[in-house]
Amino acid sequence: MTFRTRPTCRLCEAALPQTPSLELEPTPLANEFLSEAQRAELAREHDGKQELFPLVLYTCAQCGHVQLPVIVSPTRLFENYVYVAGTSPVFVDHFRRYAMAMIDKVGLTPGDSVVDVGSNDGTLLRFFKEAGMSVVGVDPAREIARQATESGVPTIEGFFSPSLVDPIRARLPAGKPVSLVTANNVFAHADDLHSIVDGVKALIADKGAFVFEVSYLVDVCEKTLFDTIYHEHVSYHTVEPLIRFFRQHGMTLFDAERIDTHGGSLRGYARAGLPDEGSPGHKRVMDLVALERRLGFGPGVDRPLQELQAKIRALGAKLTGRLEGLKRAGKHVAVFGAPAKATTLMYQFKLDGNVIDFVIDDSPMKQGLLTPGTHIPVVPSDALYSRKPDYAVILAWNFADPIIKKHRAYLDQKGTFIVPIPEYREVSQP
Ligand SMILES: [Zn+2]
Repeated sequence: MTFRTRPTCRLCEAALPQTPSLELEPTPLANEFLSEAQRAELAREHDGKQELFPLVLYTCAQCGHVQLPVIVSPTRLFENYVYVAGTSPVFVDHFRRYAMAMIDKVGLTPGDSVVDVGSNDGTLLRFFKEAGMSVVGVDPAREIARQATESGVPTIEGFFSPSLVDPIRARLPAGKPVSLVTANNVFAHADDLHSIVDGVKALIADKGAFVFEVSYLVDVCEKTLFDTIYHEHVSYHTVEPLIRFFRQHGMTLFDAERIDTHGGSLRGYARAGLPDEGSPGHKRVMDLVALERRLGFGPGVDRPLQELQAKIRALGAKLTGRLEGLKRAGKHVAVFGAPAKATTLMYQFKLDGNVIDFVIDDSPMKQGLLTPGTHIPVVPSDALYSRKPDYAVILAWNFADPIIKKHRAYLDQKGTFIVPIPEYREVSQP
């Protein structure tokens, strides 16, 4: 076994229920793209098949936290991680605005210290550095951490925990607590959130703030963003269980807001001490709790996830019915975009080499490789024009509009884009 299944809730440690709230098709790890050589090795040693992992969510009956209890070795998931934030202009812009908003909100001034957990290539920290702050990043991806350090953002290679507090402090001006710790997605990706929060608390002491972004389960359910469920992503946060979790650590979730990233995310703000019940931030937190209760989220309640399961089934029937019809008519179909989430959707709806001719991705690091499990070749976007697929299913749906805009010429040559999520739509030349 190369994974284990935790029996208890990641936030409150209560035993998880026997039955899952949501069951998806098992998938390979979403970022395990293969080279031809690796595929040949797989054929010799493992029957040609990549290992599949169960993809099931459980709702804690005590605190309401929704989670994937399947834990794959983090080294396997993240050490050779290829995602580099700075290669995507959309994310660079997101991080620039994020840094400016945090400087304003937390009241940072030149000379303050900022730590980013899961700092990737240092894109976010660079904006704080330019504003005169001392910065340190932490990231487990060896090569990316090395490059970030070389480019001027000191980055410690590793998984953040209390054991990194001293090495981080050693790289910052002495004698002052850290003013801001940020964590984007790490708070949804790490199994041991207690250890992360203990480390954060030691860094920020009584003064600083902890700000994190995670995908928001309310958006996942409302917009059928089920493909954001994959094995790197183990926590599907709502606000109410987090309030209790931070309180358990002597901290307060003092503000929370919904943001657009990844189709719908939550940005949470925590600090040491008790809540300021009269503050506008506290009111925003309570408004989100009220929304979650109204929608039926809560301890031991499965309704929103059962509704999501039904919506996935309906979307699957529509998309696969359409693609089968196109295949029968002799049409060629490609996929546009090979983000991690594409693996979940392709397995759930059986989009394999029988249906999809090739997969387009703009990342040079993925081109020339084969998709996880389905082993479909990944090629650059000029294939839209040289190989002229009749249909291209956009699985990087959060970038659907810029992709369609950039590839008007594909529509001019009578190509059709299919965007399955959040609302199924087809885009072609009128
Ligand atoms: Zn719980």
